[in-house]
Amino acid sequence: MNDFDVIIIGAGIAGNSAAFHLSEKSDLRIMIIEKNDISSGASGLNAGHISSTGLGDDPNLQAYLTHGSLEIFKSFQIDRGYDIEFRQSGSIAAIQSEEQYDYALKEVLELRSKGKYAEIISTKEAKSIEPEISDKMHGYIYYPLRGQADPIKATTAFALEAQNLGTYIKVNESVNEVSSKSDGTFVIKTNEDLYTCNKLVIATGAWTNNLFKSLDLDIPIVPIRGQMWSSKSLPPNIFTAISATQSQYDWNTDSTSDKNNPPELTHKDGKRITRHLYGRQRKNGEIIFGGDRENVGFTEKVDFSGVESNKNHVTELFPFISQIEIEKAWFGFMPFSIDGKPLIGKIPAYNNLFIVSGLASSGFGRGPMAGKYAAEVVLSDYMPSILNEADPSRFDQLN
Ligand SMILES: Cc1cc2nc3c(=O)[nH]c(=O)nc-3n(C[C@H](O)[C@H](O)[C@H](O)COP(=O)(O)OP(=O)(O)OC[C@H]3O[C@@H](n4cnc5c(N)ncnc54)[C@H](O)[C@@H]3O)c2cc1C
Repeated sequence: MNDFDVIIIGAGIAGNSAAFHLSEKSDLRIMIIEKNDISSGASGLNAGHISSTGLGDDPNLQAYLTHGSLEIFKSFQIDRGYDIEFRQSGSIAAIQSEEQYDYALKEVLELRSKGKYAEIISTKEAKSIEPEISDKMHGYIYYPLRGQADPIKATTAFALEAQNLGTYIKVNESVNEVSSKSDGTFVIKTNEDLYTCNKLVIATGAWTNNLFKSLDLDIPIVPIRGQMWSSKSLPPNIFTAISATQSQYDWNTDSTSDKNNPPELTHKDGKRITRHLYGRQRKNGEIIFGGDRENVGFTEKVDFSGVESNKNHVTELFPFISQIEIEKAWFGFMPFSIDGKPLIGKIPAYNNLFIVSGLASSGFGRGPMAGKYAAEVVLSDYMPSILNEADPSRFDQLN
């Protein structure tokens, strides 16, 4: 019984959400194959920020991915009864210079003119939401709709719900090779077994290009190393999802993008070009922060100078952090496409081949909806125009 209608490779937020939505809407025989554990990739290692500024008056793909995902997380927590530690806590971004303030004001006015939710708030207002935040900032952006959830619990909830609806899940089994047969079906060779499927969904995050090589396809997705650190459990001190505007301001003048590098990295050619920052306090009391995004391939180690730089930056926002010790630091690999946009839908070079990846640095918050779109394309075999921006056919080598 190794024949399936749909096989999904990768049990991160993208693959699990695709499996959940497929099994909710069909009676197809579906299997997920994961080389390690469920949520062992970026989906279990991230900061748990969920970004949304609302759908606005004329929603684009980014609005549907972010806001749609927020609603899906909410429904898992409240309607389906999974405690994924979801909270619509809102989010505060610290503005640290006059130039950043001018930039942030322009951005916020533009968002508001499109019916989205963001506002510039004063120190007094910021301190009434985050009592420990520094009063030395030039201002703060408040995003009332943004939220947070536990990455492992949330990613696993999608897998469990897919399983409840009939999806088979194989863990600790690595797909080594994929080949296509003349009738358009696929043979999947793992380290343990052989499987066949009518439709194949690749949801392998930063590892996507490795797998596509067996199909003679060059997927323009590169692994970008992100890293984070955490404190021991502490009493509640930070209540919202925290970020800072420095990186957005810097990327506005130098996006870092060229033929080998995706946009919005913190380092280029080994040199730091900006400081990025995100973090929050978990339900268990641990304070977690991170920020760096480096194009260093699958270099599996933490760069402690980057962790130190991030902790100093967090201390500028929250002076009490200077007294806090780092308990743990870790890294994870984010799937960045070379143009910075997701890849969701059909791969034109093969019939019945689909992808949901390239979710970059915000794939936890966008993954539930990206998986839902992927499931819809698999079921309908149709690419809706809302997915134009994420259409894999924009890359010549995939046609
Ligand atoms: C440090 C860090 C912080 C981040 N913070 C945030 C944040 O706060 N908010 C946010 O929205 N996003 C954040 N992100 C980004 C987010 O985590 C990713 O965009 C998202 O998790 C990608 O999901 P995915 O399912 O595409 O990939 P993954 O979660 O990486 O899943 C891919 C899976 O495929 C499996 N796989 C790969 N190859 C094979 C194979 N050959 N056979 C079988 N299985 C295979 C892997 O083991 C893995 O489990 C962060 C990322 C990092 C690293």
